[in-house]
Amino acid sequence: MNTQGRPTRLAQDVDPGAYDDTLSGSRGLEQAEPLLFERGSLDVTGVDLPEPKGTQSRLGNVERKGVIGLPGLSEPEAMRHYVRLSRKNYAIDLGLYPLGSCTMKHNPRLNEKMARLPGFADVHPLQPEQTVQGAYKLIEELARWLMVLTGTPAVAMSPKAGAHGELCGMLAIRAALDARGEKNRRRVLVPESAHGTNPATAVQCGFYCDAIPADATGRVDMEAFKAKLGDDVAGIMLTNPNTCGLFERDIREIADLIHEAGGYFYCDGANFNAIVGRVRPGDLGIDAMHINLHKTFSTPHGGGGPGSGPTVFSEALAPFAPLPFVVKTKDGASLKMAENECDVDGTGATPFGRMTAFHGQMGMFTRALTYMMSHGSDGLKQASEDAVLNANYILASLKDVMTPAFEGTCMHEALFDDRFLKDTGVTTLDFAKAMIDEGYHPMTMYFPLVVHGAMLIEPTETESKSGLDRFCDVLRGLTEAAKAGEADRFRAAPVHAPMRRLDETLAARQPVLRWTPPVADAAE
Ligand SMILES: *Cc1c(COP(=O)(O)O)cnc(C)c1O
Repeated sequence: MNTQGRPTRLAQDVDPGAYDDTLSGSRGLEQAEPLLFERGSLDVTGVDLPEPKGTQSRLGNVERKGVIGLPGLSEPEAMRHYVRLSRKNYAIDLGLYPLGSCTMKHNPRLNEKMARLPGFADVHPLQPEQTVQGAYKLIEELARWLMVLTGTPAVAMSPKAGAHGELCGMLAIRAALDARGEKNRRRVLVPESAHGTNPATAVQCGFYCDAIPADATGRVDMEAFKAKLGDDVAGIMLTNPNTCGLFERDIREIADLIHEAGGYFYCDGANFNAIVGRVRPGDLGIDAMHINLHKTFSTPHGGGGPGSGPTVFSEALAPFAPLPFVVKTKDGASLKMAENECDVDGTGATPFGRMTAFHGQMGMFTRALTYMMSHGSDGLKQASEDAVLNANYILASLKDVMTPAFEGTCMHEALFDDRFLKDTGVTTLDFAKAMIDEGYHPMTMYFPLVVHGAMLIEPTETESKSGLDRFCDVLRGLTEAAKAGEADRFRAAPVHAPMRRLDETLAARQPVLRWTPPVADAAE
């Protein structure tokens, strides 16, 4: 087993507990899967090409002298390896994926169909502008929907993730402060419940963070917030609904106070799924907010990307929005890439810089706009309402056996703490691992940090009532088992997963990214 928890030999050699019941290490039709390098062999080749006759190498002395060191596998062998690995993965297309704060929602297949239209799928950023007018039109149309839904006058479409959108918004705030000659304003107020990307972004932009505590209801403590205002404050980064799944009721007052103090209001819009069509953040006084298209607008999250985090701006910050951006011209639209192109159009823009090499995630734009247009404004509103309803259904169904972190109803995600596990010997981690054996991907654990042993469950709007009932029944059953003293079962879980418990800390701190041949082989 390597430190990422992958078997480096057939599983039966290493982990007798997991696969001790078959000769091959496979189980059922689930194949034990070693690394490609272990499956193949360096002295075997998967392709059988004759030596070309009568040719001479033109590589001179840069020609490779040693063995290439790649495993010799045939195409089907290599393909099967990757397909088998993919089948060990879990996905929203396989079942409920209740990760709170991440909005892992269904990706409608219509989105995929549109994204595959050759005119969208095959565009290249270096094509002549007149051949990509349709793509610009789509970007513009999506931008318009985002501005209407958020009630803001400007949007930067180029950020490629939520965190990248935060960077975009905070750099715009910095540019605006610098333009005012207020370089002393470097303190950013960040609630304790914030997603880790918020303080990371602020620091990356040269600010430093000052944490605002939560009050007993899980929201910004207004007295503490007021006490922190001052003439060195650059702004606040606030998530709404916040990461406890609660609407920040004082948001209008927060916006007014931060503006009076001379700061800007960055809103983390990752939880926009809860309020689309119900609330326009622009009306609440925000100055910048990113929107995760891969959360709210159903474009897929995949292996860290490709995401898309367009960032909307208020009137005050709009001039500082970054390059590149699309502008209308007399014969269509054009992408402005460089600073010296801006004034030409008399836009009055003073971009803080250039955010990305090219425009953005065309495939994500196409999917998000498809989602918006197929739902319409009424459908988007209903999606938010259903997301909130589903989360509250879970909260109400489980609150007699699990412990909700705060009183009252929630928005799109239900937050529980670990008080219900007190004295059972079962931790939040054990509980989550036991869910894997039951066929459920665990919820978000230990986040937000303001709640002890947090379990943050976000079902999203597309789960049916019967699906939610089944999920709640399982969680109820697990809480009963924990309270009945079955701690050993929880500590051993997962027993049915392809891998048991992994040393995630070691894997993150000392990732082994390179395969080295076993010593015996190397000596041969
Ligand atoms: C997901 C998330 C982010 C970061 O978005 P990415 O697209 O993952 O970079 C920021 N804040 C909150 C509250 C989030 O849930």
